[in-house]
Amino acid sequence: MKSSISYEQLNAVATEYGTPLYVYHAEKITSQYQNLLSNFSPKNTRIFYACKSLTNIHILDVVKRAGCNIDCSSINEAKLALHVGFAPENILYTSNSVSFEEICEAVNLGVNVNIDSLSNLEKFGAKFGSNYPVGVRVRPNIMAGGNLKISTGHDKSKFGIPVTQLVELKAIQAKYNINIATLHIHTGSEIKDVSVFIQSADVFDTLLDQFPTVNVLDFGGGFKVPYQPNEKGTDIALLGAEVDKAITSLSEKYGRPLTAWFEPGKYMVSESGYFIAKVNVLKKSGDIEFAGIDTGLNHLIRPMFYDSYHHIDNISNPMGATKQYAVVGNICETDTFAWDRAIPEIKEGDFLVFYNAGAYGYEMASNYNARYKPAQVLFENGVAKLISRRDTFEDLLSLQVPLNK
Ligand SMILES: *Cc1c(COP(=O)(O)O)cnc(C)c1O
Repeated sequence: MKSSISYEQLNAVATEYGTPLYVYHAEKITSQYQNLLSNFSPKNTRIFYACKSLTNIHILDVVKRAGCNIDCSSINEAKLALHVGFAPENILYTSNSVSFEEICEAVNLGVNVNIDSLSNLEKFGAKFGSNYPVGVRVRPNIMAGGNLKISTGHDKSKFGIPVTQLVELKAIQAKYNINIATLHIHTGSEIKDVSVFIQSADVFDTLLDQFPTVNVLDFGGGFKVPYQPNEKGTDIALLGAEVDKAITSLSEKYGRPLTAWFEPGKYMVSESGYFIAKVNVLKKSGDIEFAGIDTGLNHLIRPMFYDSYHHIDNISNPMGATKQYAVVGNICETDTFAWDRAIPEIKEGDFLVFYNAGAYGYEMASNYNARYKPAQVLFENGVAKLISRRDTFEDLLSLQVPLNK
């Protein structure tokens, strides 16, 4: 896989800042957003970066400087976005299973709000009536996404208000005269098939005449990015053209201008990220050669959590002849990153790089086994800068009440 940060640059920051280390490339994030801008019609589309994929404020600042809006999954993410300087109207807060108090807080901050349960919608109506335009997340009962763990729109999913409860939804809307401005559907992650988004447009088509105040159709996120060499992601040009067609025709049919919103997380930052680890131990066992590295599922859980694939290179010996390795972590769990992977020949002390580490990598990291969370570095204009430091031993103790000895 071609890296836009060179092996030399990766080796240099791994040596300077130590491993394990997350490294990001600002220009890649900006170019991903530019690619969306150039393929979606600017007059009827807005893009909101789903920041739960990577929330470091320096990354949010890159996204903001690119001109992109931001989608938040918690009130604290919304506060981080405000901290970085996003205007409230450019912040979207999509809640699920949150307390009504958190929704009130979002209203107080003045951000766009999507509600995903009849219970919270009822409380919202009772408190705000028609005063605050709001979005409702509906669950279309569509099976989509890379696998069940990352599929969110199917008929057993916890997300959204099931389309089968339309009568109840309408009754609550009417009772409080709620100004429903947005219909929202997010069916899952790693959706390669453009027709899934068009299926969402078909669901919107069945709802629009019952929601005369709706002027935004929010299609969620979930664009697939390539993980394996030569793999293809979502065809953004095709998606942009199809969505433009759908929005234009729905706007005409219902006699009001409609805008499409999208909430890509992975698409924006996955490929901008590199995770570097050092090989501590080589161990032979029968046919298997284990490469034991200085990290584990505490720092990159996706392979164990979702069976996700991360391409691995040996940046200490990138041109070497390949051998088969099982790449395993140092945590007391079976944290295997790759079972039988061709990698240029490894020596102890070599640096390995995991690609596609920008989204849901550091963000899901923990201190399991009382290990330090890695540092993060951002390359911009060819210059590397530290954007969060590695933990220290004091950090491990910092929240704990001292022993009285
Ligand atoms: C997680 C999430 C996204 C982003 O998903 P990606 O696969 O990273 O693009 C967008 N919208 C909502 C509501 C989400 O929960």
